[in-house]
Amino acid sequence: MENQSNISLSTYDLKQMILMEKQLELFRHGKLDLFDLLKNLKGFFNALEYLDINWKDAVQTELNTVEMVLDNIADGSIVRRIDDPEEAITKSISALRSLIQEVLAKYLDFPDLTVLETAILLDKKWFMCPLCTESWESNSNTAMVTCPSCNHPLHNPRYIKKN
Ligand SMILES: [Zn+2]
Repeated sequence: MENQSNISLSTYDLKQMILMEKQLELFRHGKLDLFDLLKNLKGFFNALEYLDINWKDAVQTELNTVEMVLDNIADGSIVRRIDDPEEAITKSISALRSLIQEVLAKYLDFPDLTVLETAILLDKKWFMCPLCTESWESNSNTAMVTCPSCNHPLHNPRYIKKN
């Protein structure tokens, strides 16, 4: 596992993916309806430069499912009727979250040499973002962390390089 290759993810793509994850969270907490969720996810997804075809296909499939359910709700189409729309949505949302978190977790595991900034360690529990001065509690030991406010990737001052 140690020498598993890093994934190449630009700061721009990383931020898009974090925004996608945040949209899913808003939906989960009832702060976003399905229509807006889909619209926003598609917007972020279509702007991605990340080129892993399998990953993109998998995400596209789930987005298509959500779209089909929405169409189904909108026009009551019998042809494309989905037996249990609520279950289909729950499954797709959960699949989308896993797909995004998988990429983010892989990214955070390795130092990103294109990133210059390091999070500031305020004390044992708190980080501060040098870019927007947001501070947050975290026990993360991964190579990289992301600021919860500006979503910028930062080196983790706690990270100890594995040999
Ligand atoms: Zn920040």
